[in-house]
Amino acid sequence: SERITMGPLVAAIDQGTSSTRFLVFNSKTAELISHHQVGIKQSFPKEGWVEEDPKEILQSVYECMERTCEKLGQLNIDISNIKAVGVTNQRETTLVWDKETGEPLYNAIVWLDLRTQSTVERLINRAPGKNKNHLKHKTGLPISTYFSAVKLRWLMDNVEEVAEAILTHRAMFGTVDSWLIWCLTGGKSGGVHITDVTNASRTMLFNIHTLDWDPELCKYFDVPMEILPQVKSSSEIYGSVYSGPLAGVPISGCLGDQSAALVGQMCFQDGQAKNTYGTGCFLLRNTGVTPVMSDHGLLTTLAYKLGKDSPACYALEGSVAIAGAVVRWLKDNLGIIQSSAEIEKLAGEVGSSYGCYFVPAFSGLYAPYWEPSARGIICGLTQFTNKSHLAFAALEAVCFQTKEILEAMNQDYGVSLSQLQVDGGMTSNRLLMQLQADVLCIPVVKPSMSETTALGAAMAAGAAEGVGVWSLTPGDLTAIPTEKYQPLINPEESEFRYTRWKKAVQRAMNWET
Ligand code: ADP
Repeated sequence: SERITMGPLVAAIDQGTSSTRFLVFNSKTAELISHHQVGIKQSFPKEGWVEEDPKEILQSVYECMERTCEKLGQLNIDISNIKAVGVTNQRETTLVWDKETGEPLYNAIVWLDLRTQSTVERLINRAPGKNKNHLKHKTGLPISTYFSAVKLRWLMDNVEEVAEAILTHRAMFGTVDSWLIWCLTGGKSGGVHITDVTNASRTMLFNIHTLDWDPELCKYFDVPMEILPQVKSSSEIYGSVYSGPLAGVPISGCLGDQSAALVGQMCFQDGQAKNTYGTGCFLLRNTGVTPVMSDHGLLTTLAYKLGKDSPACYALEGSVAIAGAVVRWLKDNLGIIQSSAEIEKLAGEVGSSYGCYFVPAFSGLYAPYWEPSARGIICGLTQFTNKSHLAFAALEAVCFQTKEILEAMNQDYGVSLSQLQVDGGMTSNRLLMQLQADVLCIPVVKPSMSETTALGAAMAAGAAEGVGVWSLTPGDLTAIPTEKYQPLINPEESEFRYTRWKKAVQRAMNWET
């Protein structure tokens, strides 16, 4: 049968917390041509611990690549049209592997993991004035269990194989992007050990002003610099795929998932913002070439650097640890829904939570509180409360948490957002989107192509020097159709509920102290 001739295609690996996807886009229209998705197992070996298997992550990437190539074949599309591959990934998740055997030396410690809580408390107690923002001037981040350096420290202190590999100069550290790119470009047979500025900015070892690993920070965490990957821009040729159906295709884009979504939503202008609803919830606002330091509990992070010689752009970020994860919890731990999507129907049976508030502080609270000892609570229960109210309260919690970070963002940035651009797995939930508009009292705008994270990585890969099949002129793709949710309830009612939520948060705080 006849092969369809197409314009250049660009692919993206989207390695998220709950699943891996491989997606192929038309570089001229940004249209999604084909994709494949595989779920990722999470293990919880102890309370507060969250791990994933690095080999399963890698295998899921190969599987998605192969299956997508097969699907393209079924569509009669020649895979030689794929001109570049970009990588986007769950951030902060920490791996160490042996560069000689290519074997991981421990499971990946997932960003949500809390095992470093005592290490973090020790570091904060040691800091001048017990200030958790002691390293913020360089990193843009508070000392927290969230970032890679403390997870790496734990691995060095607790896993003999890791300590041994460091002593014998065989250890490589990386976030998921580094692990995947090293493996995909040949691994122990000459793979490249790199990361990009956006991923590096989440380790707490990276100076966000000089755009390099910082010797003082490395000393602070006692991390040998030789185990760190080389830091590159988010858009340049790093190497090429070593084997499989896409052997020889350049890997030329790399962005942490939240940065990728900012790019995929075309938030290239100072002041533009997007909120992504996945396992957690991440609101990023582009602040242009100037890093803005937050006075309200937000992070300062790299937004992107689209080319070796292009300027680095920064973002203010509000991170919420638990968003989609609370839905997964209702499914896996309580069994009141059979699939994540079912929550919409269950919550939709009631028009409100009937005074029930659910603060899902399973991993402490991130922005704007940064309180590791907070724990989840459900309050306001009466004899009348049922599982629909609980489901409603869980969705509302995601909206309230977003409101808290949006308020902080408006204060730090000085200009209020007039509407919120959204994406991520949870945004297919229309009830949630309507609730979000009601809670924020501003419109919520969702692109009809929901894979903006992957799109951002594909754009970075396609635009790289030497690939050049994608133009990043802002405005290019503004014609992408969107769905808009307008606020429907009155602002006083919204404010009343938000005040109650804040009271519930105060009860969740300092639970363990
Ligand atoms: P990640 O990139 O973090 O893996 P995704 O963007 O794939 O996350 O979103 C998956 C998360 O969204 C899961 O936690 C899941 O429970 C939640 N989710 C998916 N669909 C829905 C839905 N219709 N309603 C509510 N939550 C959903």
